[in-house]
Amino acid sequence: MVNNSDDMSFDIPETVLDEIQHNIEHVINTFDIPEENKMEVIRQINFMYSRTKYLSLTDELTRLPNRRSFENDFEKEFLRAKRYNNKLTLVMFDIDYFKQFNDKYGHQCGDYVLKQVSNAALQTFRKTDTVYRFGGEEFIVILTETDINQAVIPLERFRKTIDTLFLEYQREKLHITVSIGAYQLTDEIKTKEQLLERTDMALYEAKNSGRNKTVCGN
Ligand code: GH3
Ligand code: MG
Ligand code: MG
Repeated sequence: MVNNSDDMSFDIPETVLDEIQHNIEHVINTFDIPEENKMEVIRQINFMYSRTKYLSLTDELTRLPNRRSFENDFEKEFLRAKRYNNKLTLVMFDIDYFKQFNDKYGHQCGDYVLKQVSNAALQTFRKTDTVYRFGGEEFIVILTETDINQAVIPLERFRKTIDTLFLEYQREKLHITVSIGAYQLTDEIKTKEQLLERTDMALYEAKNSGRNKTVCGN
């Protein structure tokens, strides 16, 4: 279920963007910009830099942080949790039979569903638990300082919230459900790829056992 296709429109790694920021002063001095204009040029470059950085890390449709943003944060959170022996649970959820919304009511309806599910996720999880759009109709949540037992409560709350969401699209009632997979970091897990794979397997199990389910891997 892990989607490896990278469909992001911006392909500038964060480290490169940081380097660009670093070089701004050098650029300003290289070009013979009149002293009185320097501040305005710096302001404009800074604006373009932050806008580009924002776009490169954000999903355009849902405004959630995108997959690249996830890769950056996950690396940091995984290493931090390993080093300090902190609790960490990774969550993947996927909208059930999402294709039907596109097929029945059009792509716009699918987009509407994606936005509503994203908003519900933002409202359900804590500010410290970042929700990412991983790709298509798949999302990831990094639950810091949370083990699998503590994760069950908000995950089930979220699943039920979506299940009971009252949504209409062009006067048609929409019933949405999500399948959720979660896995906690244990000593046995050595790499972030392993944790992602276990989480993906839990999601696969949730799908296979009938959907609209939360499966906690251990
Ligand atoms: P399952 O319960 O097994 O997850 O079934 P599903 O229909 O949700 O999954 P499937 O992978 O068959 O279909 C996912 C669809 O999501 C196919 C793709 O066209 C659509 N999709 C991906 N990204 C977007 C998007 O940004 N907008 C819209 N409207 N559709 C999208
Ligand atoms: Mg789906
Ligand atoms: Mg999917």
